[in-house]
Amino acid sequence: MTNLTELTLTEMQAGLNKGEFSSRELVQAALERLSQVEPALHAFLYIAGEEALAAADEADKKRKSAGATGQSPLLGIPIAVKDVLTVEGLPCTAGSKILEGYVPPFTATSVKRLKDAGAIIIGKTNNDEFAMGSSTEHSAYGYTHNPWDLTRVPGGSSGGSAASVAARCVPAALGTDTGGSVRQPASLCGVTGLKTTYGRISRYGLVAFGSSLDTVGAFGRNAEDVAQIFSVMAGRDQLDATSADMPVPTIDFVGATGQSPLRGLKIGVPKEYFIKGTQPEVEEKVRAAIQQLKTLGAETHEISLPHTEYALPVYYIIAPAEASANLARYDGIRYGPRADAGNLWDVFFKTRGQKFGPEVTRRIMIGTYALSAGYYDAYYGQAQKVRTLIKRDFEAAFREVDLIAAPTAPETAFEIGERVDDPLAMYLEDIFTLPANLAGVPGISFNCGFDKNHLPIGLQLIGSHFREDLLLQVTHAYQQVTDWHKRAPKL
Ligand code: GLN
Repeated sequence: MTNLTELTLTEMQAGLNKGEFSSRELVQAALERLSQVEPALHAFLYIAGEEALAAADEADKKRKSAGATGQSPLLGIPIAVKDVLTVEGLPCTAGSKILEGYVPPFTATSVKRLKDAGAIIIGKTNNDEFAMGSSTEHSAYGYTHNPWDLTRVPGGSSGGSAASVAARCVPAALGTDTGGSVRQPASLCGVTGLKTTYGRISRYGLVAFGSSLDTVGAFGRNAEDVAQIFSVMAGRDQLDATSADMPVPTIDFVGATGQSPLRGLKIGVPKEYFIKGTQPEVEEKVRAAIQQLKTLGAETHEISLPHTEYALPVYYIIAPAEASANLARYDGIRYGPRADAGNLWDVFFKTRGQKFGPEVTRRIMIGTYALSAGYYDAYYGQAQKVRTLIKRDFEAAFREVDLIAAPTAPETAFEIGERVDDPLAMYLEDIFTLPANLAGVPGISFNCGFDKNHLPIGLQLIGSHFREDLLLQVTHAYQQVTDWHKRAPKL
């Protein structure tokens, strides 16, 4: 029998439908793969082995009784979930000691929709504490290793999810992207990662970081697989007032194959995303990939997004400001552990002082400062105004072009420990991903080659609001004529 963990999600579906293997066999294969690679990777914070096997048996039973037609699309498919999304009954720490032992009594809408469609949750993946970081080194439970080179980071904050897909533990995994946390680890791990439009997928059950920036997204081995996960999760949810009441398109890949599938497509190449300091091989491979899109029929145009240079400072005001407000709820009373103290104030001080890690503490300090009386207008208010300018850059660009192509990250995976003590160097990792979050637009990253150390390089496509369909179709067209996305790390 073929090695089941090598199959893509779409291949797993086909095999299940033909009765070539059962969901139990798929889940068993995933768990076996995990027992082999997890000691070296540490991609997971919790593995729900027994629950997954029980769910697999139920899926197999359902499949038998319902026959091959009329199945839920993801029935019996194993997936992994970033540990900032709640799953009823499974521990949820968000990578923080302040949530150690917390077991949520409810399931995030994004996850619930996948479960309702038959998907099986294998476990919760590692991430930077409260999704703050670009390397997964800020997890309070130890870092995750990059499957392509175990001495390097997988990117972050959704590093565990990206690594688990790259290492063929699961065919797909959920991540979240507040400033790049799906796209950047997708790039560093060589998988396909979709950051959705703000409001496209419910944030209910997502541990909040920056509420005006947070989005749920997905990792897979290719665009087709990611599209399946996306379509199930997307759409209005009563439980999140900011979720958009927009129809969710069925993503059709028929038009994305054949001759010149991208004929007439206008791709903007922003000059602000090709800057000094970018690893030369990254620029080279990204330009080659854009050239490849041209051979598929697309036209390219150099464009300008003139306020790009402000994205980093603006993000690092707005995101910490929102984080400082969101994290106020962790007081030692409502969730997780509580420090011993003689009075209530000391309970707050001690619990927070002991349980938040250094990066989270730094963000709370910055955010509280930026929001305090007398500084609000100078920092937070000003940042919001510049954010509008960044958003307008994109609106202007999308009047001229259909999508934007750029590198996802300025460089390939860096060494574990190289940046963890240098916050500014870490923040620079997100220079090409932050603007999309500030504007609320969707983006995707996928492998377009390797550097001399055999580390994957990501091409980022950015679309206008709610055009995930176009991003996925163009990615699919590229993946039909290239095989970068099929390469697997040797583990
Ligand atoms: N790396 C960025 C940060 O540290 C973005 C994180 C994210 O998207 N969750 O804030």
